[in-house]
Amino acid sequence: MTYEPVIGLEVHVQLGTKSKLFCACSTEFGLEPNLNTCPVCLGWPGSLPVLNERALQLAIKVGTALHCEISERLKFDRKNYFYPDLPKAYQISQYDQPVNKGGFLEIEFKNQKGEVVYKKIGITRAHLEEDAGKLLHEGIKDGSLVDYNRAGVPLLEIVSEPDLRSPDEAYAYLIALKAILQYLEAGDCNMEKGELRCDANVSVRKSGETKFGTKAEIKNLNSFRAVQKAIQYEIERQIDLLENHGRVVQETRLWNENKGQTFLMRSKEEAHDYRYFPEPDLVPFTISRQTVEAVRKTLPELPGERAKRFIKNYGLSDYDAFVLVQEKKLADYYERCLAQKISPKLASNWIQSELLALLNSKKISIDESPVKPADLAGLVALIENNTISGKIAKDVLPAMFETGKSAKALVQEKGLIQVTDTKLIEEAAGKVIQANPKSAADFRAGKMQALGFLVGQVMKETQGKANPKLVNEILRKKLQT
Ligand SMILES: [Zn+2]
Repeated sequence: MTYEPVIGLEVHVQLGTKSKLFCACSTEFGLEPNLNTCPVCLGWPGSLPVLNERALQLAIKVGTALHCEISERLKFDRKNYFYPDLPKAYQISQYDQPVNKGGFLEIEFKNQKGEVVYKKIGITRAHLEEDAGKLLHEGIKDGSLVDYNRAGVPLLEIVSEPDLRSPDEAYAYLIALKAILQYLEAGDCNMEKGELRCDANVSVRKSGETKFGTKAEIKNLNSFRAVQKAIQYEIERQIDLLENHGRVVQETRLWNENKGQTFLMRSKEEAHDYRYFPEPDLVPFTISRQTVEAVRKTLPELPGERAKRFIKNYGLSDYDAFVLVQEKKLADYYERCLAQKISPKLASNWIQSELLALLNSKKISIDESPVKPADLAGLVALIENNTISGKIAKDVLPAMFETGKSAKALVQEKGLIQVTDTKLIEEAAGKVIQANPKSAADFRAGKMQALGFLVGQVMKETQGKANPKLVNEILRKKLQT
């Protein structure tokens, strides 16, 4: 029996505002506990919330980029639950009239055949709400401590339709969403600081079935890899239950990264458990169409459009364009390299294979790269005009990384200029053929691999400086005569 997974994601993203959603307290991270608090975010009697206009603008911006319908009426509701991280014992959220509803996000991923495929994932809604505080349990003997610095920080909860069909699609969705949020400068999306959190709704159904199975919700996944792994585990757990005559129970589960398992947190609560009702302290108001239009006009070029432009203007493959645009800073770096009029394809290859590998190994982000775009372009230009071979360039780049010197300076300093002098190469080739009569004979007898060996020997003889294409040509000529 084959099963089809059905996945929907709920992403909470912290909007990049300086102050909280309903008060003037700072949203700065990492301060002394309870420093960013006031009567409003601590829920003192008589205090009144005032909406942060910037947060609303950012919410509309994200909604517009996700092709959502922007609500005409802005209304907030109280979501009631009693827990020490919530000073008011309710959270101000949006229940039946979210600011954004009914959009979509286009994702791009590799299918099982390794082909790049595109898919539109529906966005059910994206609503504004305030964050809760944080409980600290570790190292405290009697009870727990609470830090309300986060309480009231603006969040946008983005809920997808159950359109995702595999852990890979879920991963691709998160990558695409994060890219859009960063392009919009709606938030930093730093998961370590809790600025982006994800819950996954997972169910399975028999292939061909149109009705959804019973879902489980996995809460508080703190990395995209964790989302992928937790969904995979959950799919297998549910299939196992169904295959063994059990049934899936609707419940909320948590992910244990160390064990690689999800486990029961609580049986699922329903919306009515929260006793939602309109927030009486915030009067509903109309969002004018002019406001929405004004926000729409500020939308920058988004990752999907940028990828399409890279493919069209620079001749990149779908996949290369996709990798470059995922991170805005990386795409910016790439385009700054191209300002030096170098081959777009070669520049893309060098950034994606060599530069990113070096940066990753040293845990440096692209905008802090010691090799600046103009320097990388300088290296690529030297390869393009045959001053150095690609092989030499692979040694030059790490040296640029270490010393901060330009490729040109390093190549001159170390005498790495590629030998295109045919006389020199002919000499070396003659020497190599003489020293390796068996390989020469093998090649003449039709064994093509022997040529590769001989090319390698000539490269060695010239300390890797010979132009490999020329070496190849000269050796063939010499061996065939
Ligand atoms: Zn406050």
